[in-house]
Amino acid sequence: MIKKRLMTPGPTQVPEEALLSLARQVTHHRTAEFRKLFAEVLVGLKEVFATKHDVIVLTSSGSGAMEAAVVNLVPRGGKAIVLEAGNFAQRWRKICDAFGIEVVRHEVTWGEAVDPADVKALLEKHPDAVAVFGTLMESSTGVGHDVKAIGEVVRGSKALFVVDAISGACVMECRTDEWGIDVLVVGSQKALMLPPGLAFLTLSPAAVKQMEQVKPQAFYFDLKQHRNKILEGPDTPWTPAHTMIAALAENLKLIRAEGIEKVWSRAKTLARATRAGLEAIGLELFAARPADGLTSVYLPTDVDGGAFLKRLEGRFGIKVAGGQAHLKGKIFRIAHMGIVDELDILSTLAAIELVLDELGRSVEFGAGCRAAQRVLAEGHPAAVG
Ligand SMILES: *Cc1c(COP(=O)(O)O)cnc(C)c1O
Repeated sequence: MIKKRLMTPGPTQVPEEALLSLARQVTHHRTAEFRKLFAEVLVGLKEVFATKHDVIVLTSSGSGAMEAAVVNLVPRGGKAIVLEAGNFAQRWRKICDAFGIEVVRHEVTWGEAVDPADVKALLEKHPDAVAVFGTLMESSTGVGHDVKAIGEVVRGSKALFVVDAISGACVMECRTDEWGIDVLVVGSQKALMLPPGLAFLTLSPAAVKQMEQVKPQAFYFDLKQHRNKILEGPDTPWTPAHTMIAALAENLKLIRAEGIEKVWSRAKTLARATRAGLEAIGLELFAARPADGLTSVYLPTDVDGGAFLKRLEGRFGIKVAGGQAHLKGKIFRIAHMGIVDELDILSTLAAIELVLDELGRSVEFGAGCRAAQRVLAEGHPAAVG
């Protein structure tokens, strides 16, 4: 018998409150009860995404919301700048390609962060770019990009700033309005702690204005229809995954009770503890500018990397993520977002030591946990009683 411990950067562990909500009998969505719930959820989403403007809820995976952002803002033949620093950022380019949008590719070595000065130069060279597509937390590399600084640069241009925060929102600091993000794209199965199935977009007034000028290459993803229904109802143009929206209401209660600032700072501490633990075990970190929601680390080269990941899952039920594309077999990724907590990280570090020992590497048991505990001890909450 093995207890499953999901430590991947999506999907993530789901809190009991949301699971119980999902266990309830299905109700109808065209009702006053649903509209009331949906209105509350929209208020909560605005708070946790740090925006005062509209939030759209789509029934789709995160990529669907990326596609919606592209087709509603950029017309066929329009120009977009893509900050391509990983597998997910590449998806922006592939979506643009699929809809006949001209892409200015800014390729960055995977594992490194986008330099805002490069974005400035690109915008000067391409003043006709309609949008800049970037990423908050690049889940394929574990890099957290400096979206605040990039936002400052984009603000000085005519382009809209669109950020894939599918995994980054609600775990990494992200001040949507303050940082000049016109569209923030978020998914349900990452730091929002739900199963896959919902996606979200924030829309700045400038994004809404642009949407009104573009005839989208879309029907289901026509964001004007979604926005109009929200302003009227709030409602949705098509049947929403409303049982998921009810579960989301539960998770938003948890996040808002803790406070989004605390959620961000807790993730930062967990990330530091994870990195300290892995380095104490003798593993090498991968990301040049590490994100707060996941840690990427080179697979040990003195043991069989594939066997290592298999054994972590087979013996301890710990599912971490391997590398994607050319990083497959080179790195692995541990998520610390949502309800992943201090003890999840300590047990993952302890399991890594046990598996490395089993595979023949010489291990000093406890070194990883000790280093991580030192970081966690700095942040002791005030004692009660
Ligand atoms: C998970 C993820 C995606 C893809 O989302 P799907 O829900 O799988 O479509 C895109 N970007 C980032 C940064 C992600 O972490």
